[in-house]
Amino acid sequence: MTIRTRIAPSPTGDPHVGTAYIALFNLCFARQQEGKFVLRIEDTDQGRSTAESEQAIFDSLRWMGLDWDEGPDVGGEFGPYRQSERKEIYKEYAERLIEKGHAFRCYRTTEELDALRQGLKEQGINRALKPYDLELPKDEVAKREAANAPYVIRMKVPVDGKVEIEDMLRGTMELDWALVDAQILLKSDGMPTYHLANVVDDHLMQITHVLRGEEWINSAPKHKLLYEYFGWDMPQLCHLPLLRNPDKSKLSKRKNPTSILYYQRMGYLPEALVNYLGRMGWSMPDEREKFSLQEMLEQFDIQRVSLGGPIFDVEKLSWLNGLWIREDLSQEQLAERLQQWALNKDYMMQILPHAQQRIETLSDFIPLTAFFASGMMPIKAESFTGLTLKDEALTEALQFALWKLESLRNWERDAIFAAMKTVADSMGVKVKDFFAPLFIAIAGTTASISVIDSMAILGPDLSRARIRYALDLLGGVSKKKLKKLEKAYSQLD
Ligand code: GLU
Repeated sequence: MTIRTRIAPSPTGDPHVGTAYIALFNLCFARQQEGKFVLRIEDTDQGRSTAESEQAIFDSLRWMGLDWDEGPDVGGEFGPYRQSERKEIYKEYAERLIEKGHAFRCYRTTEELDALRQGLKEQGINRALKPYDLELPKDEVAKREAANAPYVIRMKVPVDGKVEIEDMLRGTMELDWALVDAQILLKSDGMPTYHLANVVDDHLMQITHVLRGEEWINSAPKHKLLYEYFGWDMPQLCHLPLLRNPDKSKLSKRKNPTSILYYQRMGYLPEALVNYLGRMGWSMPDEREKFSLQEMLEQFDIQRVSLGGPIFDVEKLSWLNGLWIREDLSQEQLAERLQQWALNKDYMMQILPHAQQRIETLSDFIPLTAFFASGMMPIKAESFTGLTLKDEALTEALQFALWKLESLRNWERDAIFAAMKTVADSMGVKVKDFFAPLFIAIAGTTASISVIDSMAILGPDLSRARIRYALDLLGGVSKKKLKKLEKAYSQLD
């Protein structure tokens, strides 16, 4: 049997370090046993999936040297590898389950579902909605069918009892059927949900081992049941521990940058990032901290994964990155890396139109533009004194700007300007005053190249990270304050 593993990222937002981490373990597990590692794009959430985000997944994983044997961009004999191109397949399988009596069409409206859930809650019953809750009288079904009312296809699930899930690291886990709902398999727009698409694809793509994050454990009972309904063998499951912030909470961009592009922009070496992710819950037999992808692959043993939540600590990563820079690169190679990273003509050509206006001698160039090739700015809370916006208004402006920029899809000059102006206008603040703290966060000073152009050039990851850093310097935003700010933000027009 050929070992086949896969990752199945959804192309929404920035490429996540968690995706690279899961990719690394799947790659090592498969390749070490001469198997294949597949990349499948789970883009069934059409509202949130974007082509840019998909491309960013390809680019960032490749940058890290985590390449795949089959995928949307490289092809393979089990394609298409993009779920949006497999719609017909899922539909057919969902119908098949109806024919076998394992699934049903559900015409319940959102309001009815809410009422049903509320009903259970009022009776103090803690269980999921089951097929018999959802059932409608036959004539009502016929009526809705005749009226072409929208429907979803749901799977039938046991009412109670236990289900056993085998996990390569966790052994046998017992979960409760009572908490498993009559999962939607096919949505009213004809798109599958994750559960159906995932099971059908893993089967058709002959995936033998599913190594994924532990947040999917609760989905395993549904998947197991679907495999049984179809009469297929289930791949072996292995739920890897989630990456965590230093305070043990689930890795989140509020507390740690999570985008691979951020680490690239900050000047981490891909070797170091891969090495660090390899140490997340895993260790070399001799416990050495520094190792290459090739070395990890040779020594890989999934049983060496420990389940304690691995902490993703940027300081530790920086330390390791320093080792890689000092021990593995000749000066010649370091010079090349610096050029590839930011000291290249392409990047300079983006900066020059803005710098040329402002310099008198060539030696003015580096001091003026150093912030384009820096990490966090050497600023302090005091750097913000003397601005028109102070205290609460200052944090509010930075936080609102950050939220707006986090939801900005199209990262280019005019869009950034329009977004920032909307926030300033709805806060009733002059654009100039609103931009001042942004200047300091982004460039370290208000006497610099236009902050909008600067953010456009720096890119979303570093720009947002610098604003977050500024907010932290100003004392951070407490949970209570955050709630208040969120409310105020939602009321902006
Ligand atoms: N689309 C899911 C994710 O991005 C895939 C989960 C799985 O591997 O089953 O996490």
